[in-house]
Amino acid sequence: MRKKGGQARKLFEQREILASGLPSFAEIVRGSLVTRYRRCGKPTCHCAKGRGHGPAHYLVVTLKPGKTEQILLSEQMLPVAQQFLNNYKRWWAALEKVSAMNRRLLRLRVPALRESRPTTSA
Ligand SMILES: [Zn+2]
Repeated sequence: MRKKGGQARKLFEQREILASGLPSFAEIVRGSLVTRYRRCGKPTCHCAKGRGHGPAHYLVVTLKPGKTEQILLSEQMLPVAQQFLNNYKRWWAALEKVSAMNRRLLRLRVPALRESRPTTSA
């Protein structure tokens, strides 16, 4: 019983640390960054031989299989998108970790789980 309580306390602590270290939930985006160099098609242009024009940075998101959305990012929006993508990864990783912790807490049948639950019903 004491051992279970200790495990539970540790899990609660870890859960709190994880939750408090997360970036703003509002600042996330799913997708990946793609850099492209475009060829303009003029045979005399430098891009015909060397690297194309660019770089142009895109945020590419798969909406459903076979359907993607691409957003051309400005210089100003590139670091914002990078930050949001990074935040998304951190949230996703945290969700998985907290989910694993909560599975353990549910298995331990920790009574405090019920008390810590906010009441959402009206
Ligand atoms: Zn060109």
